[in-house]
Amino acid sequence: MKRREFLSGTAMAGLPLQAAAMPQASPRYTGKPELKITDVQAFLVNAGRNYVYVKVSTDQGIHGWGEAYSAGPDEATVATVRDFKSWLVGKDPRNIEYLWATMYNFTRFPGGLVVNAALSGIEHALWDIAGKAAGLPVYMLLGGKCREKIRCYQSAGGRTPEQLGESAKRLIAKYGYTAIKCAPHPMGSQAMPYNAVTRAAGQRAEALRQAVGPDVDLCFDAHATIWEPYRAAEMAEALKPARPLFLEEALRHENMDAMAELRRRVQIPIATGEELYTKFQFQQLLTVGGADIVQPDICLAGGILEQKKIAAIAESHYVMVAPHNPLGPLATLVNIHFAASTPNFIILEYHPDDESPRKDLIKGDTIVVKDGYLAIPDKPGWGYEMDEEAFKRMPPRPWHRAFEFQRDGAPGFI
Ligand SMILES: [Mg+2]
Repeated sequence: MKRREFLSGTAMAGLPLQAAAMPQASPRYTGKPELKITDVQAFLVNAGRNYVYVKVSTDQGIHGWGEAYSAGPDEATVATVRDFKSWLVGKDPRNIEYLWATMYNFTRFPGGLVVNAALSGIEHALWDIAGKAAGLPVYMLLGGKCREKIRCYQSAGGRTPEQLGESAKRLIAKYGYTAIKCAPHPMGSQAMPYNAVTRAAGQRAEALRQAVGPDVDLCFDAHATIWEPYRAAEMAEALKPARPLFLEEALRHENMDAMAELRRRVQIPIATGEELYTKFQFQQLLTVGGADIVQPDICLAGGILEQKKIAAIAESHYVMVAPHNPLGPLATLVNIHFAASTPNFIILEYHPDDESPRKDLIKGDTIVVKDGYLAIPDKPGWGYEMDEEAFKRMPPRPWHRAFEFQRDGAPGFI
């Protein structure tokens, strides 16, 4: 439509011609902040692996902590957090939807690993401040408790099926887990003939089931190392006699139709989502029927409120949520508040925080698993403080995942 036609059309609709002809500055939220953000800091530390922490400070002495996903390009995530600082200083940290939209919308192009990790870490810190300002744990601001404790699982390891079974038994004896996860394929599987990988997966699943008994839930994480749906289906068939709770990341995530095709072909539950961002990608995954269980990462998918929106989309598809949670104790705490307040939560991935150096990242009480469950903190915010002094003793180290190659030297998937 030409501009002239637009103006005459507006005038015909009864709007003042002058207002249409002379656009005003776009309106924006101008509520006077009662609490103002004064600083946004990022910390990169190594406590066995790199962790990215975000601290948001305010003019009233309240501060909040968040954790951004660490996947390798961590310096880039730190730089992005610092770049967002000028967009946030002076704003009320409790207007979290407004600030989330500021970061998401004004980045304009959909973010990937780095932007969504930075956004998620900042979002956590805003919720920590909101909880402290209200004198309430964060879950009380997000619907309150719908459970009293949080079920979690840990991954067992071992090169041989026997070692894997022993590892699982040790973890259950120590922490009381009611579910255990492992990789179905053996180490070096990218260079193995595929039939050998499938056969080994069946042997590992059988050994694990025999070691833990009939009623412990077993989860298998293929770590997105398989390319073709028919091969992932063969893997699922080999695991089926162990009656898995789920098979995780049986395929890479780029092609959601392929994941949906796999789900139609197999008879065990398919779980995925740790590499997906925001409600938008999870909506696509669930619309094509690509998952029985979704696994957003709260440090990557957009934060705790975004993960609750993802859970709501999943709930409408009768799909449960088992958050991906391989990072540090703060990520676990944010997930505990999510799980406490979310009806279709099923189980949380967990790496114990009861030993140094991980336990040194937070002040005060250690987070512990009892009978396979995590306690829900009842103090304001997340209920814990990060230890900035300890950060100084934990300089970051450059890292990347171990590279794996196929038999002919081509890069594999990791
Ligand atoms: Mg995984």
